[in-house]
Amino acid sequence: MTDVREEPVLVLLDRDPKGGLARSSAGLLAAAASIGSPVALVVGQGLDGVDGADGAGDDPPHDQAPALAAGFGARRVLLAPGDADRLGVPVVDALAAAAELVRPAAVLASHSVEGREAAARYAVRSRSALALDAVGVSRDAEGVVAHHAAYGGTYLVDSAATFGAPVVTLRVGAVDDRAPAVDDVRVEELEVPASGLPAATVLGVEAVESGSARPELRGAATVVSGGRGLGSAEGFALVERLADALGGAVGASRAAVDAGYVPASCQVGQTGVTVSPRLYVALGISGAIQHLAGMQTAQTIVVVNSDEHAPLFEIADFGVVGDVFEVVPQLVAALEARRDA
Ligand code: FAD
Repeated sequence: MTDVREEPVLVLLDRDPKGGLARSSAGLLAAAASIGSPVALVVGQGLDGVDGADGAGDDPPHDQAPALAAGFGARRVLLAPGDADRLGVPVVDALAAAAELVRPAAVLASHSVEGREAAARYAVRSRSALALDAVGVSRDAEGVVAHHAAYGGTYLVDSAATFGAPVVTLRVGAVDDRAPAVDDVRVEELEVPASGLPAATVLGVEAVESGSARPELRGAATVVSGGRGLGSAEGFALVERLADALGGAVGASRAAVDAGYVPASCQVGQTGVTVSPRLYVALGISGAIQHLAGMQTAQTIVVVNSDEHAPLFEIADFGVVGDVFEVVPQLVAALEARRDA
């Protein structure tokens, strides 16, 4: 009988805008290592390599990717050429070629915008089962099982394919283990037959400076979110101060977004971003089910709310009943004093 730990698990890694690997890579490869032997697929290059992004033309692709993937536990790395001018289809072509080569027990991708698109298109093309937004994977006697947190984390649900290798997207941050680094990684250039299917064409790329040194909300290890309880855009600055003191990203409830305290890109929840950080701090947020849907899988939840009956206290690991304008400045001062000590 084949040792399941030797069965290949194909992992599509997202690139970051500078051509490195996205933050999701370590968790994806650790999840793959828990159910088999991780084979990383790295496609194309990041924005530095896109013509027009930095005016310097194409950079050599894949430079540090194999070493980074091996550092996160990949036993084998497949490098596919990609095509920075065409969206979606080249990545799916690469996934199809990689799956044909390694015959994986499962295909894992990040539940990022890019990962979701590639996974869904590949699943349709290969007629595979698709399990979206998993928070973990495991194996049972019949194969790979994906674990999901449904209805805002109220239920934990398992899904498994009745035939073939499932395609699973993993929520960013849900698996934050690290597989041990691999010394003798096998790196191969993957030959990818082009499917010729129509793809959206990129006419130009313009890098946008975010102007913020804060981590991106999706995938951040620490998130500090504010709600209607902050009262105004000026009051919301308190959320940003605590986020900066903790080195975290800024999130918000929909009520705070609708009131114009922060842009919609900060919204956490059912109709916003789903986060799974190590630490989630909620300030002046009541805990509506639609908000919980986006943050309930956080490892540690801290709540500050003046209403002791606020529903968010029910899932809090630490709760402070108090006024954010009294509690948070003391917390920021204590953190800053510790940092400066
Ligand atoms: P409130 O519910 O008004 O709560 C404010 C809280 O602040 C209260 O608990 C209050 O006690 C506390 N407070 C007030 N002053 C202070 C103070 N000085 N100090 C400490 N605490 C204070 N919501 C989301 O967040 N994300 C979504 O993605 C989302 N999607 C939705 C989709 C649909 C289809 C619908 C119908 C709703 C959705 N909502 C979403 C809205 C959601 O139902 C809630 O209305 C929203 O989450 C409430 O935001 P809030 O907790 O900031 O405001």
